[in-house]
Amino acid sequence: MKKLIIEARINEYMMRDAGNTNVPYTPEEIASESVACRDAGAAIVHFHARKPDGTPEHSAEAYSDIIRRIRRASDILVHPTLGYNTMDDHSAEGRLRHIVELAKDKSVAPHFVPMDMGSINVDRYNPVSKQFETTTQVYANPTGDLMYFAKRVREAGLKPYLTCFNIGFLRYVNAFADMGLLDEPLYMCLVMTDNVYLGGHPGTLKGLQAHLDFLPPGKRVEWTAMSYGGNLFGLAAAIISQGGHISIGLGDHPYNELGMPTNADLIRRIVAIAHECGREVATPAEAWQLLNPSESAVQPA
Ligand code: ZN
Repeated sequence: MKKLIIEARINEYMMRDAGNTNVPYTPEEIASESVACRDAGAAIVHFHARKPDGTPEHSAEAYSDIIRRIRRASDILVHPTLGYNTMDDHSAEGRLRHIVELAKDKSVAPHFVPMDMGSINVDRYNPVSKQFETTTQVYANPTGDLMYFAKRVREAGLKPYLTCFNIGFLRYVNAFADMGLLDEPLYMCLVMTDNVYLGGHPGTLKGLQAHLDFLPPGKRVEWTAMSYGGNLFGLAAAIISQGGHISIGLGDHPYNELGMPTNADLIRRIVAIAHECGREVATPAEAWQLLNPSESAVQPA
């Protein structure tokens, strides 16, 4: 079986007071966590730049600082975030601006850019009080913005990471591929959401299978799976044995049911499950080659 690509999703906008103090905030913390995850078996690191108090940071300078620090110590593939709807300028141009800036300089050019292929409500639900904490939060990704991202990301020579919260998102990926806006193999992230987030498929075998039933037909696809707001380990063996890849980290869930793990601890657990399933783990170079088979094995930076 092809090698397993493990992506460490180290921080998102997860706050430490949500339960795990190992969530990295500063450039130094993000870089050292990236190196530790690479040493544990991760091929890709997905991160959000944060201010020292944990609030979002969107400047290209912050992202280039982090990527330089990571590259000084590791060959892990780099997957920063787009700007989110917490930004003042959440136009398509504004959300992609730091990525376009980074891509101009080979030394800090990322490998992947996330494209969430649709829109969902992201108000947090409290199942104990049976109340939503907010009632207006929409993760909006208009079709025209996605077309802009696809065009600019291709021009910049980066690989789109196609995040899919439900079947409608998968249908968008298929349509964009038919329109010639995306190159194969399509790298798709099948998202399940649990506990506080209700916008995705539930983190169950049925939730996963519903995604898999609607992968773009007749197209070359590599898929990874993640659980936003929930524990992915219950599905890990099923994902790995069906040929999927794994995306996991403290950004999605504090994993306090395992104590106070670090991101690298989570990666080590996935590597152990992969070996039990008879699957080897891809290095960053092997992961890049699997996702970009027409290119040389040399990484872009
Ligand atoms: Zn993210």
